[in-house]
Amino acid sequence: MKKSNFLKENNGRLMWHPMTSPQDSIDNPPKIITQSSGVTITDIDGHCVVDGVGGLWNVNLGYSCQPVKDAITDQLSRLPYYSTFRGTSNDVAIELSYELGEFFAPDGMSRSFFTSGGSDSVETALRLARQYHKLRGDPGRVKFLSLKKGYHGTHMGAASVNGNANFRNAYEPLLPGCFHIPAPYTYRNPFNETDPQKLAQLCVAALEDEIAFQGANTIAAMIMEPILGAGGVIPPHPSFAPMVRDICERNGILLITDEVITAYGRTGAWSGARLWGIQPDMMCTAKAITNGFFPFGAVMLGDKMVEVFEGNPAAKIAHGYTYSGHPVGAAAALACLAETRRLNVVDNAAARGTQLFEGCKALMEKYDIIGDVRGGYGLMTAIEMVSDRATKKPIDADTAATVQEVTYQAGAMVRVSGPNLILSPPLVLSEQDTTTILSALDAGFKAA
Ligand code: PMP
Repeated sequence: MKKSNFLKENNGRLMWHPMTSPQDSIDNPPKIITQSSGVTITDIDGHCVVDGVGGLWNVNLGYSCQPVKDAITDQLSRLPYYSTFRGTSNDVAIELSYELGEFFAPDGMSRSFFTSGGSDSVETALRLARQYHKLRGDPGRVKFLSLKKGYHGTHMGAASVNGNANFRNAYEPLLPGCFHIPAPYTYRNPFNETDPQKLAQLCVAALEDEIAFQGANTIAAMIMEPILGAGGVIPPHPSFAPMVRDICERNGILLITDEVITAYGRTGAWSGARLWGIQPDMMCTAKAITNGFFPFGAVMLGDKMVEVFEGNPAAKIAHGYTYSGHPVGAAAALACLAETRRLNVVDNAAARGTQLFEGCKALMEKYDIIGDVRGGYGLMTAIEMVSDRATKKPIDADTAATVQEVTYQAGAMVRVSGPNLILSPPLVLSEQDTTTILSALDAGFKAA
């Protein structure tokens, strides 16, 4: 049997996939990607497409990016591993921490805690939030607030603050003390409010109401994505994040921004915090920090954390990962930061993001199956598909799968998550690549 046929036939029986039913991988074998170059990927049958998903929101600099590959191989030959647990460190992790504080994080966020990925970063922030209040002599602050539709990963803590039942139900009971606020999602919300600014005010009022109900002195932190990603690219009105920042401040609640998607240029700004002009107390990052080439993450820590944890020898962080500060990940991240600056990727994300967003809105004029198009901030856009525009009845899974498959055959990999078709291509996308994605989508919608 040809090797490619063996792989296709046995994938589903050999491995279980994240976020997929094992039987579904047997019945509907996934696309097996074997090669990549620039912003394109090639499958096992030799079909080459523009990667409209950018790996999984992480291959910001494209697949070729030689400086990152070189940094990884150089580091592998010099020091492939050393731990940063008590008593040891490594040179590249320190250097990365300096660069992140100096060039990436908002002012007042000069410390990093390194992790192996997004869920690890969220878990770290939640734990440090509780510890922060204990160290301050306020041990009753243990609860967490987050947004409905938010996605924060898969560890038990992260899953508990997730705002989508799909990621929660099978694993309940989750962490007690996690409460969810309506998201500023204009297309569907409990207030039937379509004006983004008014909706932001209503969501903020719901947040204040929940804080009053729970008691501010029981709440450790609020965690939110600056622009909700996996939940269907939901950008709030620009007034939303500053209002949340203010409410948290007034109530002694730490604000954690989950920037696993939004950091390092995706939104057309260096981070979601910078986009909205806020300074969180902790900032979770991962994914594009290494362009997806090495599992790695960083939590940036603000001044409040520094004040409480430093200067107190009893404030021991009883948390961390074998791979915290992994030198190969740190070397990759240093190269990514340098390339992101050198290629001016953040501005390109903003320009191509506008082209993609406007192009998707033009498709909405053509196809009734498109109920809503969201984005407008860099290269993160979602098309919400419906079977009836008037009632907003969500699309059925088979039609969504047809759109995705025909789009793929026509030249672009796109991701479908529930009724949403999500676009998160590499930030080095050219004008022509953007046009390719849009014309492939046109073919996909025409076929539905
Ligand atoms: N937070 C956000 C906002 C995410 O989008 C993701 C992953 N898509 C995570 C956390 C979890 O990251 P990981 O899959 O690397 O654990």
